[in-house]
Amino acid sequence: MDFGLVALTPEQAAFAADVRQFLDEIVTDDVHVRERETGDGFNAEVHLALASRGWLTPGWPVEEGGAGLDPVCRRILELELERRRTPMVTANVTNMIWKAVDRYAEPDLRDDLKPKVAAGTVRLCLGYTEPDGGSDIAAAKVRAVRDGEEWVVNGSKMFTTGAHNCQYTFLITRTDPEAPKHRGLTMFLVPLDLPGVEIQGIRAFSGERTNIVYYDDVRVPDRYRLGAVNDGWSVLRGPLDEEHSIGLDGGGLSDLSIGHGFMRVLEPALDAAMEWALTERPDGSRPADDPSVVTRLARIAVDLECATLTPGPMGRVRGSDVLVEAAADLVDLLGPLGLLAPGTDAAPGDGAVDHAHRFAQGTATYGGTVEVFRTIIAQHVLGLPRPTYPGSRTFLPAGRRNPSGAVQS
Ligand SMILES: Cc1cc2nc3c(=O)[nH]c(=O)nc-3n(C[C@H](O)[C@H](O)[C@H](O)COP(=O)(O)OP(=O)(O)OC[C@H]3O[C@@H](n4cnc5c(N)ncnc54)[C@H](O)[C@@H]3O)c2cc1C
Repeated sequence: MDFGLVALTPEQAAFAADVRQFLDEIVTDDVHVRERETGDGFNAEVHLALASRGWLTPGWPVEEGGAGLDPVCRRILELELERRRTPMVTANVTNMIWKAVDRYAEPDLRDDLKPKVAAGTVRLCLGYTEPDGGSDIAAAKVRAVRDGEEWVVNGSKMFTTGAHNCQYTFLITRTDPEAPKHRGLTMFLVPLDLPGVEIQGIRAFSGERTNIVYYDDVRVPDRYRLGAVNDGWSVLRGPLDEEHSIGLDGGGLSDLSIGHGFMRVLEPALDAAMEWALTERPDGSRPADDPSVVTRLARIAVDLECATLTPGPMGRVRGSDVLVEAAADLVDLLGPLGLLAPGTDAAPGDGAVDHAHRFAQGTATYGGTVEVFRTIIAQHVLGLPRPTYPGSRTFLPAGRRNPSGAVQS
């Protein structure tokens, strides 16, 4: 949504001006250069500066470290952060997980961590995916075995993004291997500085940094358990639904899907292509003199607008599909110029097309794959029955028939 088209109250307009001025000061070119180098989705100075305004947890009351913002001001902040491509992965993931911690942690742990989350000194990452497979989170194999007042954790988690910049991971573990898979899981908030935790960096195709995290006889005190033993699936549901854009309450505003964010990567690539199209070649002609070039660029511009405005799970799928197809089309149009990496002399838009093309590939996977999201659209948007796949029978109430005709006993 373009807030230029929305009539803001004088207070909201003043807030927007304040946000712009503050972000101009803290989200500098250096921040973007550093993000390109690290791929962290996190910048410590920016994170702490946002915390100083209560803007890491903007909806929390001021006395709890937030900014007490209403939904419109929160949206203004969100859009301005996004427009500046502020590295916010760790901040957003922390917020998503916090709601479950707030609900399920023992009061002493919750009260200890809450002000630190608002202050930006405690950050949280997601430990769902395992090397053997990620979409089927309930098949988690990382084992937690009780030993008195502690749990001994063993195994490994793949793609724990931000672990190296976080203090805790939201770790789903298997505590009862004999129970049906959703019923033998327990959730922990594991301190990442415990002995036996090893974090190894992995760079994705686009340069984004993620991690594999090994747990080798890690002794986790029971105070870090979230929710009941073997009820981890209930704890996980809230953050997972939020990540899947299911049942979001936008306070009257439609959801800004993750696909909306993907378009912020396509925009500079399209700008770079426009500049290329209007640049004269040695013979005096311009690529834009070819109507097919103009048509292709115009189609990308339309797709970009549509994906930007599509909310919820559909926006997530649309955003990825548009970025994957458009970035490939731009590379095809620009030829070798489109494959010059950021920082290379003569790279149009400082390598924005190459970056979009690389970044596009991961968007089909993270936060849940587009195939999984298509299933979510079928069920939660269209109201179609849950498709069957291995293991799905386990969760049907006794006697209920699943779409394949099998009856759960
Ligand atoms: C850069 C990056 C960062 C990530 N960050 C995190 C993180 O911080 N924490 C975390 O826990 N995870 C993270 N993930 C994992 C991500 O969220 C995906 O859920 C996970 O990668 C999917 O698992 P997989 O790659 O093992 O694919 P699989 O689940 O093995 O899937 C393989 C293929 O099968 C398809 N498939 C699987 N199940 C179904 C189904 N039911 N219906 C239709 N098709 C299906 C998939 O769409 C895919 O095409 C990250 C992934 C990436 C690439």
